Amino acid sequence: MKFVPQYKTIAHLFPEEGDDFAAHRGRVKLWLLAHTSWECPGCGDWMGICHQHEGIISRSQVQGWPVERRVLIHTPYNCVLICPACNLGLDGKSPPSRAVVLRIKVERFGEAEIACWLRSLPFKVHPLRGWLEEHG
Ligand SMILES: [Zn+2]
Repeated sequence: MKFVPQYKTIAHLFPEEGDDFAAHRGRVKLWLLAHTSWECPGCGDWMGICHQHEGIISRSQVQGWPVERRVLIHTPYNCVLICPACNLGLDGKSPPSRAVVLRIKVERFGEAEIACWLRSLPFKVHPLRGWLEEHG
């Protein structure tokens, strides 16, 4: 079932199973470029070039899902833009932790909204079940 965000203006950025993966990811990146800080949440540097990072639910956590379902994690609620060094682990940098991304997204969209989106993901055992029990 398609998750419908509280923020109707970004409803198109919440894909349904089977939506084109690359095209959808591109739409999310364009939205992030226009609506979020260009300061890297990993290292704090100003970004000239940025990479899209799945910060709360990682790509590896949905690796076992069918490809048409993996698109569900590519939303503004899960993705942040980070600098190439953080994304690639260069210069002693690394991507921001899940806790950091979760805090950014909760501040931006609200705890209830993020919890609702997380619950809509078809995990058998949810990787954030502890957080959801505390915050949902
Ligand atoms: Zn960085």
